[in-house]
Amino acid sequence: MSRFWSPVVGTLSPYVPGEQPKLQNLVKLNTNEHPYGPSPKVLDAIRAACDDALKLYPDPSSDRLRQAIAATVGVQPGQVFVGNGSDEVLAHVFLALLKHDRPLRFPDITYSFYPVYCGLYGIQYETVPLTADFRIDVEDYLPARSGPAGAIIFPNPNAPTGRALTAAEVERIVAGNPDAVVVVDEAYVDFGGESVIALTSRYDNLLVVQTLSKSRSLAGLRVGFAVGGAALIEGLERVKNSFNSYPIDRLASAGAVAALEDTEYFERTRQAVIESRSRMTAGLQALGFEVLPSSANFVFARHPSQDAAGLAAALRERSIIVRHFRQPRIDQFLRISVGTEAECGLLLGALAEIL
Ligand code: PMP
Repeated sequence: MSRFWSPVVGTLSPYVPGEQPKLQNLVKLNTNEHPYGPSPKVLDAIRAACDDALKLYPDPSSDRLRQAIAATVGVQPGQVFVGNGSDEVLAHVFLALLKHDRPLRFPDITYSFYPVYCGLYGIQYETVPLTADFRIDVEDYLPARSGPAGAIIFPNPNAPTGRALTAAEVERIVAGNPDAVVVVDEAYVDFGGESVIALTSRYDNLLVVQTLSKSRSLAGLRVGFAVGGAALIEGLERVKNSFNSYPIDRLASAGAVAALEDTEYFERTRQAVIESRSRMTAGLQALGFEVLPSSANFVFARHPSQDAAGLAAALRERSIIVRHFRQPRIDQFLRISVGTEAECGLLLGALAEIL
C-alpha cells in the first residue's frame, strides 16, 4: 500500500462481492440478479437517451426519476433520495451516522457490507445473533432487552437467509426505538416480503432502502433509492452534495424511469421468479436439503450429510456458480439465486448427479 495514503487504508477489510465471471455459458446463481433481463422498454428508453444531451451534466436532483419512484411507491418526491445502486444509498446513510455517540445495531448474519462501511467510516456497531432457526427476533431490537441503539439496520427479507419479518413486526421495532433511525433494506422485498414504505408517513425515524437491481433486473444500471420523512431525506441530500452532486447519469435515469413505468413486465417476471423459487425449493427438498423459507429471489439451503464448500466446488466444475460463505453458523449453507426454469433444472440435475 502506498505510503502516501492514510495508514487507515491499509487496515480496511473490504467487502468481497460475489464473483462476476467473464466466462460465457455459466449458470450464474451466485449474486441474486434477476434471470429475465430488463423490460424491452428500458432498452428503448436508454437508446433514445443516447444523444447530444450527453455533453450536459444530468439533473443534480434527479427530479424525473424521483417523481417516477414516488408515483410507484405512493409517496411524495420530496421523500425520495436516489443513488448509484442501493450500496451507494447505504454509503450515504452510514456517512450520515458518522460520529454517532451510540453504536449501530444489526444482525450477526446479514448483508456483509454493513460492517465494511462501519470499518471504513469508523462507526461503532454491535451485532445481534439470529435465532437458532435464523430469524431476526424483534425483541432483540427493543431497548427493553438490548438497551438503546444509536441506529438499527437490517434487510427485510434478510440476506443471505431469505427469511422475512412481517410489516407488523418491523413496525414494532420502529415504534419501539423512537430515538434511533431504523433503516430497513428492502432490496429483495418484491419477491414476497411486505414493504413498510407506507409507514414512513407515520414514523419520522424510519428509512426504507430499495433497489432496481433485483426485481427490475437492472443490477448493471446502478439505481437505488431511500424513502423516508423529509428531515431524514434532507440529511442524506446534504451528505450527497458533499460527495457527488450528479449520482444518476442521463442513461440510467431514462432506463430506470422506463422500468418503473412498465408495471406489466415487472409483475410478470417477478411472479415467474416466485414460482421458480417454489419449484426449486421442492426440488432441493426432494434431494434431502433443508431449505429456509425464502421471501427473496434466492434460497438458503444445507444438506445434512454433504459439505457445502465441496458441493459449491462440484457445481462449479459443472459450470454452475452458487454462493458459499465461510462464516460461522452458515458455512454449511449454499445461497442459490433463483434462475430461469431451465437454469433451476440444470442446478437440480447437477446436484442429483453429485449427491
Ligand atoms: N442490500 C442487500 C441486502 C443486498 O443483498 C444488496 C446486493 N448485494 C444490496 C443492498 C445492494 O444492491 P445494489 O447496490 O445493486 O442496489
